[in-house]
Amino acid sequence: MDFKDKIIDWYRIYHRELPWRNTTDPYKIWLSEIILQQTRVKQGLPYYLKFSEAFPTIIDFANASEDYVLKLWEGLGYYSRARNMHKTANHIVDKLGAEFPKSYADLIQLKGIGDYTASAISSFSANEVHAVVDGNVFRVLSRIYGISTPIDSSLGKKEFKNLASELICSNNPGLFNQSIMEFGAIQCTPKNPKCESCPFEDSCIAFAKNQTDVLPIKKNAIKQRTRYFEYLILINENQTIIKKRTEKDIWQNLFDFPLIENPSPKSEEQIIEQLNQIITTSFKVASVTAPIKHILSHQKLWVRFWKLMVPDLVIFKNKDLIVSFEDIDEYAFPKVVDNYLSIHELE
Ligand code: SF4
Repeated sequence: MDFKDKIIDWYRIYHRELPWRNTTDPYKIWLSEIILQQTRVKQGLPYYLKFSEAFPTIIDFANASEDYVLKLWEGLGYYSRARNMHKTANHIVDKLGAEFPKSYADLIQLKGIGDYTASAISSFSANEVHAVVDGNVFRVLSRIYGISTPIDSSLGKKEFKNLASELICSNNPGLFNQSIMEFGAIQCTPKNPKCESCPFEDSCIAFAKNQTDVLPIKKNAIKQRTRYFEYLILINENQTIIKKRTEKDIWQNLFDFPLIENPSPKSEEQIIEQLNQIITTSFKVASVTAPIKHILSHQKLWVRFWKLMVPDLVIFKNKDLIVSFEDIDEYAFPKVVDNYLSIHELE
């Protein structure tokens, strides 16, 4: 059995019933596709139902006010997409006689419609032979065929589009496209793909080579940034200095201590040299912690806390606050600072 038969057979048994799958109306398919570019099926379904009920036809959509369209879109984010949809609806009503195009060639001319959406609408509504390549398709093909070309490179986009175009079922391209996307959404999922029950288990290269968590490859995968924080806990009698993090950065609006941030690790001697430059009074290092690793979603922090006894508390910046030890609990600190304060006495 070849690829197209296997994937269509799988679809016939396992696919989910979704309202936009029971229509060949290009307008309804367009609504569903644009909404699903914003969110997952489960979250997108109520939006699809809301839009198709409020605007049963493209004329209803075009006649609505932009404010109303945005109100219905509320919660999906990326509001320019909703505005573009509204403009497209008006264009179709004003310039195309309210006839939503079905052919790839006409669809690709419309604002906000690229290769993926034009392929989807033309294959679902007119059975035109255009292979869709979305995130699901990239994943399925890269795993089954063991392709490591980055999916976010122009070479990768071309390679996957060509492969999908070779594999597509020319008798039933709409069904084929639905099948491969659904397969990626519920069988060959990003995490924990269901390989044991997969019809491609005996031919899938990623499964054979234990590479399902490596493929597909992204060239510009978000790299983890490593930062080196040296917190200065300046102490005079029973007071210290804290500051509010107002910059656009991690922990916005929380409080922390005066900070030296370095792009690379520094020895304690190097930090003391930096302290000599920025602290205008004399100081005595009472203690310093070992670097503490603190992991955030896209950042790895190495944090050290320097307890420094000073004869005067000198404000470094106008956002700095002098607080007494008793009052420090009233301020919200990031977890790593909070942890430090919960196990170290400031006096
Ligand atoms: S065997 Fe696993 S990785 Fe390969 S296609 Fe099936 S679900 Fe995806």
